Amino acid sequence: MSQWNIENINKWSWRKHPLAAIIPEAGNAANYRTGGWRTRRPIRDEDNCNQCLICFIFCPDTAVKVKEEKVVGFELKHCKGCGICAHECPKDAIEMVDEAEAESQEKEGGNARG
Ligand code: SF4
Ligand code: SF4
Repeated sequence: MSQWNIENINKWSWRKHPLAAIIPEAGNAANYRTGGWRTRRPIRDEDNCNQCLICFIFCPDTAVKVKEEKVVGFELKHCKGCGICAHECPKDAIEMVDEAEAESQEKEGGNARG
């Protein structure tokens, strides 16, 4: 049971919220789709990637998806588009692209999922 009483939090007025963000329980990051903040998204060039996993280690949001010890893409529900993965990649295999452009490419049937 949470030590915080957040019953009916959606009905609270602004006066009831303390200053700064509220994190009522630990380990709740997976429940929040912070990818909505993103203005740029990472796209990985599979040919240049040597699977060193440095992007996975550095990503602050655990948004680099790994399967059987290989990078397979990005979890766009959580990727905030910070670009740390692209900055740290030793092979320059990650490019940060404009989110709006990537979305419109997706709608046209292109592959901009990273
Ligand atoms: S850091 Fe770059 S080379 Fe290494 S796994 Fe990630 S994308 Fe591939
Ligand atoms: S852009 Fe930032 S949040 Fe997204 S995968 Fe790269 S390091 Fe993680």
